Amino acid sequence: MAQIEFIDALSLEEGAREAAELFEATFGSKPAGVWDAPGRVNVIGEHTDYNEGLCLPIALPHRTFIALSPREDTKVRVISTLSGGVVAEADLDGLEPGGVEGWAAYPVGVAWAMRERGGFGESADADGADGANADGADSAEGAEKKVVRGFDAAFSSCVPLGGGLSSSAAMTCSTALALDDVYGLGLGDTDEGRVTLVRMAVASENEMAGAATGGLDQSASLRCQAGKALLLDCNPDLSALDSVSQQDFDLDSLGLELLVLDTQAPHSLNDGQYAARRRVCEESAEALGVRSLRVLADRVNALPVTERAVAVDALIARLESEEAQMRVRHVITEIGRVTEFVEAFKARDVKRAGELMNSSHNSLRDDYEVTVPQLDVAVDVARAGGAYGARMTGGGFGGSIIALVDKGQAAILAQKIADEFESRGWNAPRALAVVASAPAERVR
Ligand code: ADP
Ligand code: MG
Repeated sequence: MAQIEFIDALSLEEGAREAAELFEATFGSKPAGVWDAPGRVNVIGEHTDYNEGLCLPIALPHRTFIALSPREDTKVRVISTLSGGVVAEADLDGLEPGGVEGWAAYPVGVAWAMRERGGFGESADADGADGANADGADSAEGAEKKVVRGFDAAFSSCVPLGGGLSSSAAMTCSTALALDDVYGLGLGDTDEGRVTLVRMAVASENEMAGAATGGLDQSASLRCQAGKALLLDCNPDLSALDSVSQQDFDLDSLGLELLVLDTQAPHSLNDGQYAARRRVCEESAEALGVRSLRVLADRVNALPVTERAVAVDALIARLESEEAQMRVRHVITEIGRVTEFVEAFKARDVKRAGELMNSSHNSLRDDYEVTVPQLDVAVDVARAGGAYGARMTGGGFGGSIIALVDKGQAAILAQKIADEFESRGWNAPRALAVVASAPAERVR
């Protein structure tokens, strides 16, 4: 049987060097600086972010590095260690949503969003209503208006692409922080400012790259702390301060490890399925007379645990289609599981935390129907192999699983999963050893 491959995280020095060297080789000068942003893994709370719910991501040690210099004009040139030596070019001037092809849409879209959605464009305050300028970042009388212009950038990364670990957010968030820094916006220095950067990164993915994403990934990449899991409340009425709380997530002190395993399952119809799930949630909320499914989740989860299942059944009975009933049951119960998981972890009740991870996966498999055989089999092998809990993580339809295991067990378990995949003739999975890591930062 073939030995499982572990994807090592680039050290900050290695990653920064790779990005800076690619920059110099491509653009013939040294970059103004190097920044990085992490991929993320969501511990629990899946498909809840776009329902104004709760989720609990950690930042990965695996990161995307960007070496960047600002430009005087509005041109953008980007290259990646993964772009086959090809430089992609765009011009921010007159750029429309969806106007950039391929991977370059992610970084170009961030600068575009800062100008068009963040109030950092050339035209005086035309679009500033939604922006950080208007929020008071630079409202002093006579102060110079902050403007984001073009840039040259080179990326290097060790976040697996399309593995459900948010390489896209690692790219947009590292770009957002780099632009914030070189254009002096000052948003990266505070958690509140970072919320604006999250919005810009989301806008890039939604509007320029055409990827539906609800904010979990970008919040994780910009707002997680080392050693902590980020309890993120996606209710948009909350202030930046009230929307997150940092939860201790020091697995080592509990004698635990978290295995992350990218199944490398071929992605199937991902985008259409995600949009369809979102639509059913929105339509169901409307049919049930609430702004979002979060409202219902709060009602149900205010009840004692033993009464919740009956309450959920009564609620969803009002929906006509069985499909909608299943989707809504997942969202409501999943939001409750996040709160329960946080409480279990605080009480150092690892067994209960693991059970909640298992319930989360089963709900995603049976009610939300976003798993594929590779995810289910990997989870089954992990559970049989002694994991406290195992679940798919990310949007589903391929991607990764996580398993909470005793220290020293992650590599053994990963090998068991790889053996099972090999015997079924599936792609070889890849594993990552992870600890809760730092948010997007400047490296040099
Ligand atoms: P995930 O975010 O789960 O990894 P996505 O489909 O959302 O998957 O994003 C993956 C896409 O992001 C890639 O197809 C590519 O367009 C872009 N991307 C991410 N990281 C890089 C990189 N280092 N170099 C080039 N493109 C990248
Ligand atoms: Mg993504």
